[in-house]
Amino acid sequence: MALSIIESCVNCYACEPLCPSQAIAKADPHFLIDAKKCTECDGDFADPQCATICPIEGAILNAAGEAINPPGSLTGIPPFKLAEAMAEIQAR
Ligand code: SF4
Ligand code: SF4
Repeated sequence: MALSIIESCVNCYACEPLCPSQAIAKADPHFLIDAKKCTECDGDFADPQCATICPIEGAILNAAGEAINPPGSLTGIPPFKLAEAMAEIQAR
């Protein structure tokens, strides 16, 4: 069981120092989680520390490939509202 970081990671470095397993490393083009080292923070913390600190919705996935912070979970903006706003901006 391991989490993964995907391409929407903005390389902010926030997660790397929090990992109790030293499973996160800078890579090109973005940070990556070593699946062999990631424990999902089991035994160290109640929540996965990388996903708790990550400011980018959808950048960290659970073992099932689902976003731990799905769209709207951090901003509080429902995805349909964001889509409406983006369409309105692009129509200007
Ligand atoms: S879930 Fe925990 S152990 Fe796994 S990469 Fe994130 S911080 Fe490290
Ligand atoms: S906290 Fe999120 S955006 Fe920042 S480096 Fe880690 S995965 Fe990437």
